Order: sequence, then C-alpha cells, then structure tokens
Amino acid sequence: MLYAVSAAIEKKDLISVETIEIYENIDLAEKYAAMSVPKTFIGETLIAPVLLPEDYLIEAIIEGKPVEYVMPVGREELRDYDVVVIGGGPAGLTAAMYAERSGLKSIVFESANVGGQISITPVVENYPGFARIAGKMLVEMMVKQTLEYSALLQGVGVKDIKKKDGGFEVITGRGIYKARTIIIATGAASRTLNAPGETSLAGRGVSYCATCDGYLFKDGKNVIVVGGGNSALTDALYLDSLGAHVTLVHRRDSLRAEDRLQQSISQRNIPVMFNSVVKEIHGKKVVEKVTLEDVMTGKKTDMATQGVFIAIGYEPNNGIAKKLGVELDEQGYLKVDGQMRTSIPLVYAAGDITGGVKQIVTAVSQGAVAALTVFEDISSPYWKKSI
Ligand SMILES: Cc1cc2nc3c(=O)[nH]c(=O)nc-3n(C[C@H](O)[C@H](O)[C@H](O)COP(=O)(O)OP(=O)(O)OC[C@H]3O[C@@H](n4cnc5c(N)ncnc54)[C@H](O)[C@@H]3O)c2cc1C
Repeated sequence: MLYAVSAAIEKKDLISVETIEIYENIDLAEKYAAMSVPKTFIGETLIAPVLLPEDYLIEAIIEGKPVEYVMPVGREELRDYDVVVIGGGPAGLTAAMYAERSGLKSIVFESANVGGQISITPVVENYPGFARIAGKMLVEMMVKQTLEYSALLQGVGVKDIKKKDGGFEVITGRGIYKARTIIIATGAASRTLNAPGETSLAGRGVSYCATCDGYLFKDGKNVIVVGGGNSALTDALYLDSLGAHVTLVHRRDSLRAEDRLQQSISQRNIPVMFNSVVKEIHGKKVVEKVTLEDVMTGKKTDMATQGVFIAIGYEPNNGIAKKLGVELDEQGYLKVDGQMRTSIPLVYAAGDITGGVKQIVTAVSQGAVAALTVFEDISSPYWKKSI
C-alpha cells in the first residue's frame, strides 16, 4: 500500500489510490474476490496478488498486469560461497547470519517470501523477547539483521544441486552458484486436499490459515474446517469464536486432537461430520459449495459454504534434499544428528524440514547450530578423521 500511495503522490495527474480495509468492507472483498491481503487492482484487473516490492509494483502499474516476481536484495552478488542456504525462513536467515559472523561467505536463496511461514503469521506471542509481535514485523527485523551480514535473494528458488570438485554446484533461477557447503532450510508447507477447485479458489474462500483469513467469515458465514487433529480443532474454535457457522469435516470416525480441544468442540456444539471427505470445491469467483463424500457409503452430498479451511498437516519441502540423496525419515523429514549434519558430508539442515517441534524458536536455534557446525567441519572435516 505504501508504494502505491507513494506512486500516487509522485504522479498525482496519472495515479490515484484507494485503500480498502477488507475486514470493514466485506462486500467489496467479495466483489473483488480478495479473500486475503494485500491485493492491488487497477479497475477490475488484479495486478499484484501479493505484497510486491516498489519497482515490481511500478512495473505492474505500467504494464497493467501482474509481473514475474524475482527480486534480488542484499549486497553485491558473488558466484562462489562457503555456505549456500536454501530457504529464507527463520532457520535459513539465522544460519546465514551465524555463518557470516564465523567468517564464512554466505548467501540465502528464497523462492517465495522471505520469512517463510512467519510472513503469513498474523501475530507471534511465543518468541522470547516479544510478548506480542506481528509476523511481518518480526520478518522485517530478522531480514534487516541478516542483510547486515549475508547476501539474500528473494524470489530465486534452488532447482537442483550437484556434487562437484569436493563441493557443490547450486542451480538456481538466476544461474549456477558454487558452494563449499549447503544448509537446507526449506521448511514445510500445508498439505493440500488435491480436490478439484482447491487451487483455483485458493485465497477466494479456500484457506490454509484460519488466523490469517478467518476474520472475513465472521458474523454468521458458513465455513467448513477439514481435519481432525489439534490444528483443525483450534481453527474450528477460532472461527466459531468469530461468529462463523463452523462444521468440522473429518475423514475418520473419531478425532485425534487433544481431549481438551475435543471437549471445547462439543461444549460449543460445533457439528462434526465423521467419515467424510471433500471431493470438490465449487464456485465461480469465490467458494460457494463443496461436494462431500461419505467414505463408508460412497454417498455424495453438496453443502453450501463460503469458506473451506484446510488443516490436515504439513508436508516437508524435501524436493532438493531428495535430488541430492539426503536420507529422510519415514515422514519425509531430513534425518540430522545433534549438530544438524545430514547423511551427506557438508550438507546440513535446520528448521521445520528436520521435523520435530515446528516453531520459530527451534528453527532459529537449529539454524545457528547448523552454521556453527559448518565452521567446525570446514576447519576440521569430521568425515576424514579416523575413528
Ligand atoms: C499460520 C502459522 C502460524 C504460526 N504461528 C507460530 C507461532 O505463533 N509461533 C511459532 O513459534 N511458530 C509458529 N508457526 C510455525 C513457524 O512459523 C515455523 O516453525 C517456522 O517458520 C519454520 O521455519 P523454517 O525456516 O524452518 O521454515 P519456513 O518458515 O517454512 O521457511 C522455509 C522457506 O524455504 C523456502 N523454500 C522452500 N524450498 C525452496 C527452494 N527450493 N529454494 C529456495 N527457497 C525454498 C520457502 O519458500 C520458505 O520461505 C506458525 C506457522 C504457521 C503456518
């Protein structure tokens, strides 16, 4: 918004800006199918579906359509690094900072938004030192601090890594980089239903984050929450507390969330449809209804709903690690030792990608440990020591 307003101030005769608070103008949010923020339109045309840096927004305004988002930030680029960090979430940012402070040249590649999952977390209340801080604000502070040390490329994904000359060749969207060591901090992503309509209606009623998008469904909107674990029940209770009419849809015949949450669900009379799966999500511009299937009988029913909140767990982003041949556990997370070393010498991992407790505080701590282990291993290679 800041950049759009700046553009309007700079070019008064050409550009005018109207900022719409969608929570206060739900009718407009529905009209434009803007169920998550920020979104920038010229007239009826969506030109920026996400937060864009200034130069990209200006280009989108000039073109009148979305532009491909590849933003380099940070200091001048080299092509040869001691440490290449994959993933710009809290684990990756911390790892890069610690690496540089140990005298190692580092760069972070982030394929989407720096900050990773924190960038979509409205409020963080359990990160020591901050009683309550907006996710975006915490990201801004972390990025600023990382940039004092390390290079960081946002919008540049790592596509492949090959072992070469005792080190690695890192193939990215902006060419090939050399690395002596790799830290994989690619995090995890919400599991999807793979139901028709899910992708096309994402951000238009389909959401993976009740705390981010729930407010639009307050005051009597019908929503379903899909899942039967702690996250799903927490989301259902949150949406119910906003005044939405919530139905929980779960594919099994019993919930697997903690007792305390199950009790709250029954105390608040939130209906649960057991043995039910979402077969299809329908809607022209926004979600209008879902087709549910009873897994016991195969019977299909349509249910009118405006929101579909999906809380069926997380998938590790392990594509790169798999290509490299890193050993995974049975759930697809990267196996690491206490020093964050993976099964491949000079390849380390940190954060959600290693499974276990998935929190910011653990991600940053593992990022620090991984970087310090890199320093230790470069000085004294453990795999060359005799046992
Ligand atoms: C809605 C929500 C609320 C949360 N609330 C809290 C909370 O209150 N407190 C708390 O402690 N935790 C919270 N968490 C969890 C916390 O955000 C995560 O545990 C933490 O972000 C994990 O950090 P990470 O760096 O390991 O991974 P991520 O944050 O997932 O970051 C990984 C990054 O790697 C990038 N990436 C993946 N593959 C590639 C590739 N090939 N090339 C380049 N980049 C790649 C991704 O785009 C992503 O940005 C929340 C999570 C969510 C989704």
